[in-house]
Amino acid sequence: MSGQHDQLKPISARPIRTPEELVETGLVRAEDPSMGAVTGRYAIGISPAIAALIDRNDPKDPIARQFVPDAAELNVVPEEREDPIGDLAHSPVEGIVHRYPDRVLLKAVHVCPVYCRFCFRREMVGPQGLGTLSPEAMDEAFAYIANHTEIWEVILTGGEPLMLSPRRLGEIMQRLDAIDHVKIVRFHTRVPVVEPERVNEALISAMRASGKTAYIALHANHPRELTPAAREACARLVDSGIVMISQSVLLKGVNDDPDTLAALMRSFVEARVKPYYLHHPDLAHGTSHFRFSIEEGLALVAGLRGRISGLCQPTYILDIPGGHGKVVIGSDAVQQEDAGCYTVRDFKGSGHAYPPSD
Ligand code: SF4
Repeated sequence: MSGQHDQLKPISARPIRTPEELVETGLVRAEDPSMGAVTGRYAIGISPAIAALIDRNDPKDPIARQFVPDAAELNVVPEEREDPIGDLAHSPVEGIVHRYPDRVLLKAVHVCPVYCRFCFRREMVGPQGLGTLSPEAMDEAFAYIANHTEIWEVILTGGEPLMLSPRRLGEIMQRLDAIDHVKIVRFHTRVPVVEPERVNEALISAMRASGKTAYIALHANHPRELTPAAREACARLVDSGIVMISQSVLLKGVNDDPDTLAALMRSFVEARVKPYYLHHPDLAHGTSHFRFSIEEGLALVAGLRGRISGLCQPTYILDIPGGHGKVVIGSDAVQQEDAGCYTVRDFKGSGHAYPPSD
């Protein structure tokens, strides 16, 4: 980030989507030679709400760190993977991930209003990503859900499911309405924080159109993201009858200190969002500058106990590389073998090395 802001364009009401716009708004130095390689490889997206939150005078700003491209992304280490949580290994038809018996992911769209620099699906999302499901692929995805009566919950993720227009989202919800065995619809989203103005009556009624019990897992990583506008968006959603839970990623330089983490969890609870998942960062390409050890993560999470209300306590989670599902860090399923090396046991009882050696 630049410290010279006199000639810079003010943060505009338009999203930042190009390297030129990053330079014009002072988020990236014009002479930075590595930036072209980073932005040529991974999508750029900073919404106006997020751009307005960035302190351009702070070279360590935790909001900028999440969204502004960084030369460190060119550093790919051996344990990192293109598909760190193994979506493709569990995708029976395009757009569906069926990892656990009673639930599926439905990935209708692979664009986002922001592109997070640590994203675990960074090779799939963005203008060069997997795109939007075609009508034929959508038919196949719905046929899969309808034919698998064990599917109790459908999780809309992506990309960002709330980037769909209310009309298209409403159509998806109405199709889910017709499948009796689906009881729960969950949206994984960053929109109430990064584009709160999108959460309007039309979007909310589309989200409710299935008549199923609806949950939102709201993704935010720093307490400053819970602005008054974001809290109002959450209030509109909760008042409409949608239950909100949180998901955050523990990220070096963003929320890896007890005060920030405590403030984040309290902000969620104040906004009527129950803290749920706190993810250990995934092994996505070019993200090692965000990661730390499981021991450090455990110490941070232990620091929350006793310090903040039980309502504010999240569950610290590792997505086992390769698509073996989630495991609670701190439980018996995660056993330390050596310094920095663990055996993690998936929900089927199989053990896996972490970090993976292959
Ligand atoms: S909003 Fe979600 S899917 Fe999109 S870039 Fe961020 S983490 Fe990835």
